[in-house]
Amino acid sequence: MLNELSLELKSRGANVVIGVDISTLQAKENRGYYAAILIGIALKPSYIYRLSKENNLDCFEFLQKEAAADKLAEWAADFIRLKGYKAYAQSESNLINGFYDAVTKATPLPHKKIAVLAGLGWIGKSNLLVTQEYGSALCMCSVLTNAPLPIQYRPIMRPFCGKCNVCKDICPAKVIHGMNWEEGTPRDLIVDVYHCETCLKCLVHCVWTQKYVKTHGL
Ligand code: SF4
Ligand code: SF4
Repeated sequence: MLNELSLELKSRGANVVIGVDISTLQAKENRGYYAAILIGIALKPSYIYRLSKENNLDCFEFLQKEAAADKLAEWAADFIRLKGYKAYAQSESNLINGFYDAVTKATPLPHKKIAVLAGLGWIGKSNLLVTQEYGSALCMCSVLTNAPLPIQYRPIMRPFCGKCNVCKDICPAKVIHGMNWEEGTPRDLIVDVYHCETCLKCLVHCVWTQKYVKTHGL
């Protein structure tokens, strides 16, 4: 079923579709589901390139692709339910009505944690997912399900941030602490999300995002 779903999602704009084992997580995280589908849509290299050259905040494509990833997840959950299985799309509208904690600005199972479990990338000093292919230029959503899916088993990646501090140095709000992530590191030791200005500079200027831009000739 994942193959059929993956083809459909990719024809609708997804760049990444991965089946992920979440069965070993705590019940408050996986809510009784054993699998997740991670869906990612890449930001265009030309958009990232323009943001890296301009100083004005243009979130249009970012917000558009975040919303598109949500819509794909909701569509995928409907698709799975029509096949007779349970599925829950972790779209923003679903989470706000259920599992998002506005006080801690957290959800029980963030998409990036699912991406880390899939071996897709690591949590950067920016607290964003960083991948070798797209850097942090990936808008994500996820679906939790009990459908029998082929699971991708890849080891959890160690961070490739090393001594880089580009995101920390460029952050105008000075909320990135410069700590290298490892499994179990509390979010608040990495970044002060309460004072983040959502300016996207850490996403745009991450050296891995810039590598993604350069591989497209920009
Ligand atoms: S989005 Fe902007 S303010 Fe927030 S952590 Fe990144 S660089 Fe800092
Ligand atoms: S800019 Fe450097 S330190 Fe920050 S997330 Fe990217 S690789 Fe890691």
